[in-house]
Amino acid sequence: MMKRECPASSSLPARMRLTDSFGRVIDYLRLSVTDRCNLRCSYCMRRDVTFLPKADVLSLEELDALCQTFIRLGVRKLRLTGGEPFARSGIMNLVEGLGRRLADGGFDELTLTTNGLLLPKFAAGLARAGVRRINVSLDTLDRDRFRALTGFDGLERVVAGIDAARASGIAVRVNTVALGGINEDEYDTLLAWCGEHDCDMALIELMPIGAGTARPQQRFLPLDRVRRRLEAHWRLEPLSWRSGGPAEYVRVAATGRRLGFIAAISHGFCRECNRIRLSCSGVLVPCLAHGDGIDLRRLLRENGSEAAVDAAIVAAVLSKPEEHRFSVAPATVAAPVRCMWQMGG
Ligand code: SAM
Ligand code: SF4
Repeated sequence: MMKRECPASSSLPARMRLTDSFGRVIDYLRLSVTDRCNLRCSYCMRRDVTFLPKADVLSLEELDALCQTFIRLGVRKLRLTGGEPFARSGIMNLVEGLGRRLADGGFDELTLTTNGLLLPKFAAGLARAGVRRINVSLDTLDRDRFRALTGFDGLERVVAGIDAARASGIAVRVNTVALGGINEDEYDTLLAWCGEHDCDMALIELMPIGAGTARPQQRFLPLDRVRRRLEAHWRLEPLSWRSGGPAEYVRVAATGRRLGFIAAISHGFCRECNRIRLSCSGVLVPCLAHGDGIDLRRLLRENGSEAAVDAAIVAAVLSKPEEHRFSVAPATVAAPVRCMWQMGG
């Protein structure tokens, strides 16, 4: 891709498009609202994880102020994630505030990624705030395996959460990380289950990030192989539909539901990347796999002017690399020390 110059922040129009130096329009922000979680998925978080001190985590007011800034700078889609977003107390105040901005036409979509445990409590409120679709992570339908993988006997609650979301009119995509030797015998079952529960599904390649850096080459399962196995039992029809994220979709003929493949490692999707991430401590991360990011919390807390915050965001977007260099090869597995749960997976 050809590198381009970007406008100086002082010349930002009132409503702009954030464009990186490779010409990609950045209009999708993933926001980690907390690093805490009520599960400990073995590929994501170590069981003895140390969380950030509360003072280092952005307050709900700071999160809201930064969302408003990103919306002003052209972000059209916001995804709240974590950690577990519902583990953040007061999260619905943020959701409701953003919902009002959504209703005003300030941006196009407010969505969320959750492990689903607390959805029975929050699904109706999400729907009232204008959330129309969410992703729920579910790697297994086997109760014992769920407990072993996450450290908690919560499968029933996640299923109840998915049903509550559907009953509230929220579309659900079930996210399943392909874990070699752990859940690879379940994709047919999960696909059928999603059909019965009116959900789309996405399979995700394990990334060498967070606790996923521990022996990823042994658990990594390329999605091409998974797809070939599925095609032995299911007719998968290619679809040009995109959700605004990285998944490539097919329609499962037997259920009529969509199945997405998020092949971050084996295929990569950097050419169309439209995303930036804000960590729960206010670090703006242009790419999961590169660099240290830009500290917006310090700017906010030092009473940085609107122009200074805008300029920092533009600089972060300009520093977005052309592509990630994730690999599951043994020589590189230690490279990214980032964690999905802090950066906003
Ligand atoms: N707690 C919420 C959940 O699990 O949905 C939101 C945060 S979680 C970090 C977001 C997504 O990242 C989940 O779908 C999870 O499976 C995925 N994830 C975590 N670590 C990963 C890794 N090493 N490789 C690929 N996906 C990962
Ligand atoms: Fe928690 Fe989500 Fe990570 Fe699992 S994947 S430990 S639910 S943040």
